[in-house]
Amino acid sequence: MIKEIEFYAPANKKELFEIIHNNRDTHLIAGGTDLIININKKKVSPDIIVNLKSVEELNYIKEEGGIIKIGATATHSQIADSLLVKEEGLALAQACKSVGSTQIRNLGTIGGNIVNASPAADSVAALLALDASVLLESLEGKRKVRISDLHKHAGGIDLNKDEVLTEISFKSNKKNIFSYFVKFGLREALAIVELSVTAVMEIGENNFCKDAKISIGAIERHPVRARCVEKKFVGKQLSLENIEDSIEKMSEFTAETLFKTPFKDLISYKKQCIKGVSREVFEAIYYKAFQK
Ligand SMILES: Cc1cc2nc3c(=O)[nH]c(=O)nc-3n(C[C@H](O)[C@H](O)[C@H](O)COP(=O)(O)OP(=O)(O)OC[C@H]3O[C@@H](n4cnc5c(N)ncnc54)[C@H](O)[C@@H]3O)c2cc1C
Repeated sequence: MIKEIEFYAPANKKELFEIIHNNRDTHLIAGGTDLIININKKKVSPDIIVNLKSVEELNYIKEEGGIIKIGATATHSQIADSLLVKEEGLALAQACKSVGSTQIRNLGTIGGNIVNASPAADSVAALLALDASVLLESLEGKRKVRISDLHKHAGGIDLNKDEVLTEISFKSNKKNIFSYFVKFGLREALAIVELSVTAVMEIGENNFCKDAKISIGAIERHPVRARCVEKKFVGKQLSLENIEDSIEKMSEFTAETLFKTPFKDLISYKKQCIKGVSREVFEAIYYKAFQK
């Protein structure tokens, strides 16, 4: 027997929050690229689905006072093609461009990518290095949470039942801040990440590294910051020699992190794989800073 599902398409945020507040057990849908698969696999069986894409005020990419703000229903394609994001947070545009296929990028949203909380969520790896925050809203109010504090240790994210992720924000990259994302997947098209590296570095006079934020995707239940490697860059000149040292540290950190997870069997593969991906990212930033 086919199950009937109630479907709501609110026109604005107020209506959205009221529907969620007044109904028990609502399921939000944005692009549906994760949710529909979960329904088909019978992992979830919603009675009520609420469409986020009908809420037009949730779809934007803009800059306000040096902050890049992205509405939750912006698709991977919109972000990858945005001139603003390419200029002010290149790593995020690169991460969104690497997601799935054209069809998936046209449907899938950045909000859905974050809330689905997969270890392989490409946008999250980039947002972590960009030190982004998310806005969580409900009828009761709103709270802003840094993406680094959003993930729970055992998997999933810290999101209350009534809350909707409405906005993602991060500081726009100034002229001397360089960011870069590289993903390693097994296939060119539709590749789910095997591993990704994002770096955001502030490079001053004489290639002096003032600040570095580095994240690695797909070695834990969620993307992680490689703080021990960041320390190797900050306060030193960004040089090819320094990059070689840091690549070794990335490999050690990857092995140590995987050792604490159920994915220990991947250590020998990923500790080698990370070296090539890290080199591509760090050298890209090195040559961009050099050309400046
Ligand atoms: C073939 C294929 C390839 C893929 N490749 C990649 C890839 O390379 N990289 C990658 O990172 N992902 C990939 N994905 C996963 C998926 O496309 C992304 O995670 C996508 O961004 C999810 O967004 P969505 O809008 O489709 O989410 P939906 O499926 O609509 O929702 C996902 C979950 O998030 C909740 N949700 C959605 N938006 C919000 C919100 N604003 N607030 C609160 N809850 C919300 C929903 O209730 C649901 O539980 C792939 C998926 C497929 C099917």
